[in-house]
Amino acid sequence: TAAANSGVKKLQPYQAGKPMDELQRELGLSHVVKLASNENPLGLSEKVRTALQAELSNLIRYPDANGFYLKSKLAELHRVEPQQITLGNGSNDVLEILARTFVSAEEEVIFSQHAFVVYPLVTQAIGAKGVAVPAKDYGHDLEAMAAAVTDKTKMIFVANPNNPTGTFLTTEQIKDFLDKVPPHVIVVLDEAYYEYVPEPERAPSIDWLQHYPNLVVSRTFSKAYGLAGLRAGYAVSSTEIADLMNRIRQPFNVNALSLKAAEVVLDDHDYLQQAVQVNQQGMKQLVEFCQQQGYDYIPSYGNFLTIEFGPKAMDIYEKLLHEGIIVRPVGGYQLPNHLRVSIGLKEENQAFIDAMLKIG
Ligand code: PMP
Repeated sequence: TAAANSGVKKLQPYQAGKPMDELQRELGLSHVVKLASNENPLGLSEKVRTALQAELSNLIRYPDANGFYLKSKLAELHRVEPQQITLGNGSNDVLEILARTFVSAEEEVIFSQHAFVVYPLVTQAIGAKGVAVPAKDYGHDLEAMAAAVTDKTKMIFVANPNNPTGTFLTTEQIKDFLDKVPPHVIVVLDEAYYEYVPEPERAPSIDWLQHYPNLVVSRTFSKAYGLAGLRAGYAVSSTEIADLMNRIRQPFNVNALSLKAAEVVLDDHDYLQQAVQVNQQGMKQLVEFCQQQGYDYIPSYGNFLTIEFGPKAMDIYEKLLHEGIIVRPVGGYQLPNHLRVSIGLKEENQAFIDAMLKIG
């Protein structure tokens, strides 16, 4: 067989769950509740559904390779030029394009312990060295991350809020960090859960691009916009960075349905507002459950709550599964005593709570 590059051999494949209907059959259950992948429980935006139906007849054509309309919309929203935007097949694609564009084998990429798994993955895939900096209170220790920069460091990934811990960095913390990082290092600020952060606390990160040409901000349509299955995300950066990323990007990396859906959902302000509201209420519901039952949890700014169950965490995970409740073990993130529970609709959260009370 062909030999993979040295980085690939060290990789563990991304652990996604089984298809829901398969799991349901296996467990002999009539109904399952999936709270495992930080998806939007609200259902598809009706405006998106209508637009997708109309788009079907165009599927014999290739998508617009440059995503003209979506980029124009995003540029207007973020008050940047369309040339500063790079579209991706989900923001994972953007993260991978960034690593492949800027990092060579043997160079270094810094990320935090317990941070999103795709950072080590894209780093190792190109044979670069991943430097995982120990977490502070489950979140990023930005001082230690800045101190870990060497001549070989090319990129730093910062997730805000972070997955799977839900931890959040303030505007001041990020600005201090950006001031410390030398300009030869690209800082990727991954804001996949940005829309869930209360408005007054959101960092005006895209406005900072003028002052920090080494900053890249990534966002996604998978979470609050409810389009995880379509795969659409984007990066906002300097035009120079976007131009380089564009050389690596596959020409048709975002398909026609995704482009259309993303364009339409950006205008569906009611949907976004409702998604954020459902999340706030569901978060309150789960937090209250934890407080009543005496479970420690990591306070979260995302659409999920990571709860500590001690050494019984995997046992609880299995028992929940047999009750038809799918949550996410986070042992792969060095959090073997925790489970991550995505916020669902009120009745889905209640189903989790009822199953927990039954398991005892
Ligand atoms: N960043 C973070 C922190 C995430 O949690 C996720 C989704 N799990 C992503 C990026 C990627 O999401 P997508 O590729 O669906 O945009």
